[in-house]
Amino acid sequence: MVVDSLLDHQESVPLTYLQTLNVDLARDVKLLVASHWHDDHIKGLAQLYERCSAADIAFSVVMLKDEFHAYFVEQEPNGKAKSGIKEIKRISALRGGRKPPLLASAHKILWRTAGAEVEALSPSAQDLADFLQALATRQSLKRKFAEAAMPLGRNDVSVVLALRVGDESVLLGADLEQRSHQHRGWNAILNSAARHPTKSSSFKIPHHGSKNAHNSNVWTQMLTPEPLSLVAPWNRGSKLPTVADGQRILSATPRAFITNSYLQRKIKLDIAAVRNTIKESEIALTGAPLQLGHVRARKRPGETSWRVSLSGDAVHLQDFKYAS
Ligand SMILES: [Zn+2]
Repeated sequence: MVVDSLLDHQESVPLTYLQTLNVDLARDVKLLVASHWHDDHIKGLAQLYERCSAADIAFSVVMLKDEFHAYFVEQEPNGKAKSGIKEIKRISALRGGRKPPLLASAHKILWRTAGAEVEALSPSAQDLADFLQALATRQSLKRKFAEAAMPLGRNDVSVVLALRVGDESVLLGADLEQRSHQHRGWNAILNSAARHPTKSSSFKIPHHGSKNAHNSNVWTQMLTPEPLSLVAPWNRGSKLPTVADGQRILSATPRAFITNSYLQRKIKLDIAAVRNTIKESEIALTGAPLQLGHVRARKRPGETSWRVSLSGDAVHLQDFKYAS
C-alpha cells in the first residue's frame, strides 16, 4: 500500500523508493490512497497509479467541488488548473479499463488478505450525510451537479487509516483535524461504537503536528504507551510543527521522528539600503534548499519494537530546528 505521494526532481518519491526495493510495481502494489487532495499529499500519485497497474486507488468519498468536478466531470488535463487538480485529472484520465475507485469513509475495509487489513476510519457518517445532502440540494436547484461541495475543508474529510497485520496496528492520521462536533474529525473516530479494539504501536501524526489536529483521547484510547510517532513538517505560511507542538508530542512519546531537520526560513535583511540594492538587482535570496528526508520504521511479526532508520535530512524530533 502507498498512502500519498510527493515529487522530487519530478519523480514520485514513493515510486522511486519502491524501485530501490525491487518491488514488482505492476504486481505487488495492491492499494494507493490519496488521503486528501492537497498538493503536499498527492503530487506524483498519477505516476504511481500508472505504474502500479494492478492497484486499486482509494480516496475520500466526500469531495470538494473542484476535485469532484475534476475527477467525475472534466477529465482532460488543462494547463491552468492547480497542480493538485491536474493530478486528479491525470488519475481520472488513466482510469479506463481499471476498477472504479474505492470511495473511503469510516469503517470501510479498503484491502484485506489473510491476517492483514486496511480500514478507513474517516470521513465520518456525519460528513458523508452532509455531502449527500449538499449533492441533493444542488441537484434540486438545477445547479451543476459538480458544484456540490462540503461546508468543510479538505483536511476535515481526509482519510485516516488503520493498517492491521496480525496483532499489530499502525494508525495513519492524514491531516484530519479536531472539531468540537462529536460526530466529526477525531471525535467521530473516538466515539464510534464500531472502533476496532487493537491499539496502534505506530502513529503518523496528523496535520504536520499541528495542535488543531491533536486529541489527547487518541493517545490514550487508540495508541499503545509511547508509540513510535512520525511527523512531516509544513513549510508554507504558518510553519509546523511549532515549538509547542514539538513539546506536546515529545511529552507523549520519546520515540518521535521528523522527516526534515529544519524549516526553510526567509532571509530577513535589516538594512534598507542593502534590501533595495538586492531588489533592484533582481536577486532572490532564500535559505539553503531543503533536502528530502526519510524515516523508515520496520517490524516483523513477532518482533517487539520498531526498527527505525533515518536517511537524508530526517532526525529525531528532539533535534528539530524550529522556525523562529
Ligand atoms: Zn498536509
